[in-house]
Amino acid sequence: MPDGVLSCEQVKERIPAWLEGVDRSPGLEAHLASCEACLEASLEAALRKPVDATAPAGFAARTVARLPVNGGAPQSTLPWAVAAAGVVFVGLGALAVANGQIEVLGRWLGKMQTPVLLAFLGLEGVLCLLWFWRVAKT
Ligand SMILES: [Zn+2]
Repeated sequence: MPDGVLSCEQVKERIPAWLEGVDRSPGLEAHLASCEACLEASLEAALRKPVDATAPAGFAARTVARLPVNGGAPQSTLPWAVAAAGVVFVGLGALAVANGQIEVLGRWLGKMQTPVLLAFLGLEGVLCLLWFWRVAKT
């Protein structure tokens, strides 16, 4: 087909051949480079074109073999973070006892109102139960 100045209709008729790599005439490509409507039509045609691809042999089996065996539950680093926080908490407590600072903490806790203390203890108990429940599930 002679190039010359192509109309949009002429270009749209030649898009399948252009996508196949058969028609690479300069006039066609110049039109696609300058006409947004025809470029969009070519992109839509490219997306509608069936993909001619086959997976390598054994691809599905290798993919399934790499899936986690725990039922697909995402692995979390949270238990390790909580355990590390517990180690730091116990270490700081031991350090406070060794340095005599535990008396200061005791006096500070003694100044707290009972409902506030009970609220903190309740919250800590709930958090501990949630953590144990979470660890037991994994
Ligand atoms: Zn056009």
